[in-house]
Amino acid sequence: MLSIEKSPAFILDPTEHVRVGRDPRDMTREELASCGHEVTPVLSAIRAKCLDCSGGAPSETRRCLVVQCALWPFRMGANPFRAEREMSDEQRAAAAERLAKARAARGSAA
Ligand code: SF4
Repeated sequence: MLSIEKSPAFILDPTEHVRVGRDPRDMTREELASCGHEVTPVLSAIRAKCLDCSGGAPSETRRCLVVQCALWPFRMGANPFRAEREMSDEQRAAAAERLAKARAARGSAA
């Protein structure tokens, strides 16, 4: 990891003359990677934060009592608010075909 002076994660606040974190929306993937952040699904990032908060113990994350924490519903790495989708046999077959095509395209691109 780069030093605070060289890291692209920080800028000098011109009004307060202190270093502050940059807005990640204005950073490139390369800049984020140099700070140790790879492309990550949001739920995986939440899960990682909860594991960190629980001292790395998945059982403690599972048993977290801090219900008022904004991450609590998502701490198992899933979104419980997402409606379960009912699919017909035709929709399931079409989805499987799309997935197979996407996997084949990804395999040929590598
Ligand atoms: S839900 Fe909040 S308090 Fe509980 S483990 Fe995750 S970050 Fe920590």
